[in-house]
Amino acid sequence: MQLANRLTKVFSNLRLREMRWIWIIWATKVFLVAFSFFLIEEIVWFSVFATTIFALATILSWHEYQRALRTFETKVSVGRMESIVTNLEDAVIAYSSDFKILIFNAAAERFFGLSKDQVIGQTMGPERAGEKGYQTLTQTLFPSLAPVVVGRSEPNQYPQIVDISFESPNREFRVSTDKIADKSGRILGFVKVIRDRTREIELVKSKSEFVSVAAHQLRTPLTAINWTLEGLRDNPGLSEEDKTLAKNGMQATANLLKTVNDLLDTAEIEGGRFGYEYKEVELVKFIEDILANAQVVAKEYGLQVFFDKGGLEESKVFADPTKLGIALSNLIDNAMKYNSKNGSVTVRLKAVPPKPFVQISVQDTGVGIPPADMGKIFAKFYRASNARKVHADGSGLGLYITKNIITQHGGEIWVESTLGRGTTFFLTLPTDPSLVPRAESATLT
Ligand code: ADP
Repeated sequence: MQLANRLTKVFSNLRLREMRWIWIIWATKVFLVAFSFFLIEEIVWFSVFATTIFALATILSWHEYQRALRTFETKVSVGRMESIVTNLEDAVIAYSSDFKILIFNAAAERFFGLSKDQVIGQTMGPERAGEKGYQTLTQTLFPSLAPVVVGRSEPNQYPQIVDISFESPNREFRVSTDKIADKSGRILGFVKVIRDRTREIELVKSKSEFVSVAAHQLRTPLTAINWTLEGLRDNPGLSEEDKTLAKNGMQATANLLKTVNDLLDTAEIEGGRFGYEYKEVELVKFIEDILANAQVVAKEYGLQVFFDKGGLEESKVFADPTKLGIALSNLIDNAMKYNSKNGSVTVRLKAVPPKPFVQISVQDTGVGIPPADMGKIFAKFYRASNARKVHADGSGLGLYITKNIITQHGGEIWVESTLGRGTTFFLTLPTDPSLVPRAESATLT
């Protein structure tokens, strides 16, 4: 049964165009045998000749069959690949090491308003940015020429991912570039996959604008309520009971205000409108000031606060002091909020040579983070269950905002924690201003 199936398959394969040489081999064989029948008189020699030709034709056909089958299969997979690339919603551009365009799919034609014929086989270079119709394509191939570029991957690591924004018309591209290499690792060219995120970003921006307006509207009456309650609390004619009520009201209003402010910051970050204004900031003094402000709350919680300068008299970074203040205050507030009785908070500053970065850590002796929650605490609105027990109120936005601020300063943030023992947040900030991203980008996560 299996043999019958294989034979049927072989015969059906023989009908393929790629198998034409097998038919030619057999037709030649028939012709030679027929011709020799008339030429060779001796039946013995004729049989020897005919058998040799038959054996040769069989061997040749077998090899040809294998070769043709491989050719056919390659054609099928190349065709399949081509149709996938052609029908992809993302633009795909492949080019050789000398920037000669090899593949330009239908989406690329749409994105750049150029047809395949205008691009394939052409060598692209930065000088073409000024050529009519080729500007966006050239800026995408050479992102350093684009108006706004934000790197999303480590430098020199493939695939390289960058977000590029264009104005008039407004376009938002996420471009992922990878090497095309042969088996020995020799680079033959590059492939770029470009995703058009214009609509996605517009939706996020309009959502964040709505949240911004709502948060602004809420902030004004909340501030007024806070003042009113403050006035009541300080009123000498009020009984102690009523004063306590006013204080509770103030605490609740403060919590609500913090949530509203966090929402406002989140909306502005996501809309790419947080508005960073960088300048030189001296970190030793900067941290001392934040810790001085934190002393009141630390006293309330009965906590000790330490600052280890790591032997640094001063440490200068290029930062937005307001935003960096929000980020550090969030970490220090959390270290106090989720601490244990008679605990401590230690802020450490440390140079990390030879890297052009400075490291700040905020360590507490508190409740810790459950291992299962470690990967999620920087996500928007996430709060671990143990933290919710200690502090029912909380927006779950503080760390999300902090991470965005640190990233927008060219730094990194991570956490180490032991449940029930304490938590340390680490962050780095570049000391080299060229490592600070100049453009603010909208965040989608
Ligand atoms: P919030 O403090 O308002 O809940 P955050 O975004 O600042 O929001 O923190 C998110 C979550 O991360 C917290 O709810 C808590 O579960 C956890 N977390 C943050 N800092 C600490 C800390 N120092 N110790 C323990 N858990 C923490």
